[in-house]
Amino acid sequence: MDYQSVLDLIVDEVRPLVGTGKVADYIPALARVPAARFGIALCTIEGDVAFAGDAREPFSIQSVSKVFSLTLALQKIGVKLWERIGREPSGNPFNSLMQLEHEQGMARNPFINAGAICVADQLVSHCAAPKDELLALISTLCGEAVGFDPEVAESERSTGFRNAALANFMKSFGKIDNDVDTVLDVYFNQCAIAMNCVQMARAFAYLANQGVLPTTARPIVTPRQARRINALMLTCGTYDAAGEFAFLIGLPCKSGVGGGIAAVVPGRLALCVWSPGLGASGNSVAGMRALELFVTRTGLSVF
Ligand code: GLN
Repeated sequence: MDYQSVLDLIVDEVRPLVGTGKVADYIPALARVPAARFGIALCTIEGDVAFAGDAREPFSIQSVSKVFSLTLALQKIGVKLWERIGREPSGNPFNSLMQLEHEQGMARNPFINAGAICVADQLVSHCAAPKDELLALISTLCGEAVGFDPEVAESERSTGFRNAALANFMKSFGKIDNDVDTVLDVYFNQCAIAMNCVQMARAFAYLANQGVLPTTARPIVTPRQARRINALMLTCGTYDAAGEFAFLIGLPCKSGVGGGIAAVVPGRLALCVWSPGLGASGNSVAGMRALELFVTRTGLSVF
């Protein structure tokens, strides 16, 4: 398939939507990002890459990082992780506190903030240097060094009252083992990782390839773990819009408030779109439309 032409056409077609929606403004470093940006990239399981638009411009990956931290936690402790975190969609906003009380501090899934904070806690328990190991994993996945944006990380910390509340609340139920500030330091830094669309597409290709990194043939997770991560992305990866994503796009996706969305076509390729304008559920408006166009044009969907 001529993926390059497909991506070029999508860039033209989504143009009217680029700049619409609302750029995340809970911290100044994100509020400053120009709304009128759109990038798209894909990486096939053969390791071939195609990209268009602002695909080389770094953005804050935010919640997309939750897939990488989950991957590292599964590498470290495997199925034991599920003693602490559920696997059901929440149907609530990503930073909601409500459900946690009903469910005795057990986070519904690893892709809402509570669940990702719980994953970060497990990384603190089982990694000698969790932040370094997370960066090393992502750098291996995309074949290039990636890093934290220190300004974003510091703003996440100084404004992260709700995440601190989630962490303390879970700690009160005995669901967090380590010091809350140490756990949140991992979480805030992972949100502040900067990547571009090409790096992100490469970094997700193992999930299209049964857990094996296409470029080096290195196993990252087992085929079963890859299937399960994809299933969680499909059901829980886009907050309370997961049903809408499945309906319109039908691919495992993970979004972040930086405007990035990573998507997986199992057995074929990984795709990344980025555009900072967000809709009501915190997902990129132009990014979501671009994924819908990609699936329509190529017929590549799980369904
Ligand atoms: N840093 C944001 C938070 O913790 C990430 C949320 C997101 O991308 N959905 O709330």
